[in-house]
Amino acid sequence: MIREGEKVLLLDPRGKKYIVTAQKKDFHTDLGIIKLEEIIGKEFGDSIRSHKGYEFKILRPKIIDYLDKMKRGPQIVHQKDAALIVAYAGISPGDFIVEAGVGSGALTLFLANIVGPEGKIVSYEIREDFAKLAWENIKWAGFEDRVTIKLKNIYEGIDEENVDHVILDLPQPENVVEHAAKALKPGGFFVAYTPCANQVMRLREKLREFKDVFVKPRTIDVVVFEQEVKKDCMRPTTTILAHTGYITFARKR
Ligand code: SAH
Repeated sequence: MIREGEKVLLLDPRGKKYIVTAQKKDFHTDLGIIKLEEIIGKEFGDSIRSHKGYEFKILRPKIIDYLDKMKRGPQIVHQKDAALIVAYAGISPGDFIVEAGVGSGALTLFLANIVGPEGKIVSYEIREDFAKLAWENIKWAGFEDRVTIKLKNIYEGIDEENVDHVILDLPQPENVVEHAAKALKPGGFFVAYTPCANQVMRLREKLREFKDVFVKPRTIDVVVFEQEVKKDCMRPTTTILAHTGYITFARKR
């Protein structure tokens, strides 16, 4: 049963999504007004009608809905890249992650969902405005139990120890290699997301200097070929989601 204050996903007949809170308030859409109070006591999977008679399905919001609807500040890590980071670094429930910078908090939300309530994420950020925005997104998605934001320059060091993964989305990840070498557990992963090839070259040069610590570095670019499927023709869509950023992985021995 849905309680007052709980977040729900409303799906309109066109597939448009809204994340709302079950509470004593009206919610205005172009398909009419919804009395959010009427959601209280319903079950996920039930429906509610707007005053114009349109049916909205009430669903439990999933992480992809929060990612679609969160507030955006700086450029976020795309889900295709977040998925690869999780897959190739073996990120699992209960893991302890140090991340920088938090930015809008999109990657943070994705990772918080994977590490679960037993996991922990400490996310460094140098800009107070982004830290604030990300914290709003984190609270809104219900992950304040496992995420901490630190207003600190990660190039100056990592305070945490015994970390499972150090995950970076900032301009100079090579400045963090030495700190990650100390902070990571043996077997832990260093991961850096960088849009430009010259950033990768600088990072890989630094990782070479630390080849006794970090083994098997690899750099990957994820390209997604979505298909357009029509009744008599299936073909790749004309716009392909190609380069967003390179992802470099290295494992601590
Ligand atoms: N991964 C984030 C986006 C990060 S944008 C997301 O998916 O939403 C990069 C962020 O790194 C910016 O907010 C920037 O302020 C922060 N940053 C840059 N250099 C940093 C440093 N040395 N230490 C901590 N944060 C840093």
